[in-house]
Amino acid sequence: MNAKVWLVGAGPGDPELLTLKAVRALGEADVVLIDDLVNDAVLEHCPGARIIAVGKRGGCRSTPQAFIHRLMLRYARQGKCVVRLKGGDPCIFGRGGEEAQWLREHGVEVELVNGITAGLAGATQCDIPLTLRGIARGVTLVTAHTQDGSSLNWQALAQTGTTLVVYMGVAKLSEIREQLLAGGLAANTPVAMIENASLPHQRDCRSDLASMEADASAFQLKSPAILVIGAVAGAAELAASPPTFAQACAL
Ligand code: SAH
Repeated sequence: MNAKVWLVGAGPGDPELLTLKAVRALGEADVVLIDDLVNDAVLEHCPGARIIAVGKRGGCRSTPQAFIHRLMLRYARQGKCVVRLKGGDPCIFGRGGEEAQWLREHGVEVELVNGITAGLAGATQCDIPLTLRGIARGVTLVTAHTQDGSSLNWQALAQTGTTLVVYMGVAKLSEIREQLLAGGLAANTPVAMIENASLPHQRDCRSDLASMEADASAFQLKSPAILVIGAVAGAAELAASPPTFAQACAL
């Protein structure tokens, strides 16, 4: 039997946001390796499978990546149907690409299954249309946390005119604020900070670029959270005074 691993996105948390393909893969799974941002409720779709938790949150209890690779390989070579279940989409800040490459190099067939990534889900759950016509002509997904500790070019990002969706940003609010202001983004640019998107305990804190750090602190914003930075995060106000026809045509 050909060794095969499914790299599956479990979506942002709400089990109803799982894809039908993810449900099918889970239904066929003998072994499921699950990250800790995945809602356990999705495991109702794989009642017979062996569940192995391999989560690793920054700084906490962690499973080395090499160990996860070897576990997947071992079960796949035993002919087991292996599902590697990740939060959101497997390829958006999820190491799906690395894992797929490593497995293929070791002769394992890989099938990737999309999930709804937290940044897109969080915005939509909060009624924020990320590419509202006439207001934002694009959206940029970035992580504030890098493996080598290097910083993004926030000042360049401030110039893109796109909505910024920031993952892993809770501990970096000060830097993000300062750099985006230095890059020319207006101090009153709306910001939404969305914690536990799509889950029953979802919370969102509305602020602006100048105040986001202080507001997040008063709100006790915690990870996992995403930041949406841009005019669309004030969409409720936009709805009250929509862009003029000429503004909309200009975009
Ligand atoms: N592959 C995942 C992202 C993993 S990186 C995806 O596509 O969504 C982990 C980061 O994702 C967290 O630090 C947080 O910024 C974000 N995140 C994941 N789940 C979230 C949720 N339910 N609500 C808000 N942010 C979330």
